Amino acid sequence: MLTIGIDSGSVATKAVLYDGKTVLDRVLIPTGWSPRDSAREALETLLTRNGLEQADCVVGTGYGRVTMDFAQKLVTEITCHARGIHTLNAKIRALVDIGGQDSKVIALDDRGSVREFMMNDKCAAGTGRFLQNTLHHLGEDISQLDALAQGASPQKITSMCTVFAESEIVSLLAKGIDKPGIAAGIVESVTERVASLLGRVRIEGEVAFTGGVSQSLAVCNSLEKRIGKALYRPESAQYIGAMGAAVIAWDEIAQERGTLQMDSE
Ligand code: ADP
Repeated sequence: MLTIGIDSGSVATKAVLYDGKTVLDRVLIPTGWSPRDSAREALETLLTRNGLEQADCVVGTGYGRVTMDFAQKLVTEITCHARGIHTLNAKIRALVDIGGQDSKVIALDDRGSVREFMMNDKCAAGTGRFLQNTLHHLGEDISQLDALAQGASPQKITSMCTVFAESEIVSLLAKGIDKPGIAAGIVESVTERVASLLGRVRIEGEVAFTGGVSQSLAVCNSLEKRIGKALYRPESAQYIGAMGAAVIAWDEIAQERGTLQMDSE
């Protein structure tokens, strides 16, 4: 039995192929202008690459999930992230996810159910988009964030609003402030936002860091310093939502087939 989970995010569409125990394959493609097309492309890529005609069940999640008319079920990203991280590490009691367009904190109970969650999706501060845009002003790509920011002394970015923060960066550059200091300042500005979100949730136990931005060691180190805790950062951190969707799909089918078996007995 094989299932597929697809997480249609604002920046990237992630999909995984799952056999009930392991993620067999995964794909990430830019969401682009059409979440429907990118989700379908992710699905087709996984099927073709693995010699499959179809999966037993497909579950869609993420902001673009409503466009997935080919999915058997659509589930919110909060539920999928919780399910994905609990499957990977049952000791996790909270998850911080920084994606392209939002940041969220999810508190879990010992069974992996959502106890509480906080989401910032109204303001670009504390998101990957903010990092991307501000690095663009430095003439750099997001992939250069760590190389620039690690070990640099952070230049304080005082504007809370990203639009003002971006013009602040332009004037800092004009004053001759060096790029590494500004990059480190941008990191601090993001983690300050996210730590305050995290501070609003009761956390007892281990905390995971997921989403595209968790690839940055500089962001991870800064966040760890702010919350005084080591963060669990899985290699598959950007795929946690897709993985949760695939696990939910697997349970769905297992339950359905179990029920069918009982019916025919
Ligand atoms: P979404 O689900 O909203 O599409 P993702 O969780 O897939 O978001 O993350 C996408 C974000 O990850 C992008 O906004 C990008 O800025 C960020 N990102 C990608 N690579 C890196 C990196 N090396 N360091 C920090 N952020 C990164």
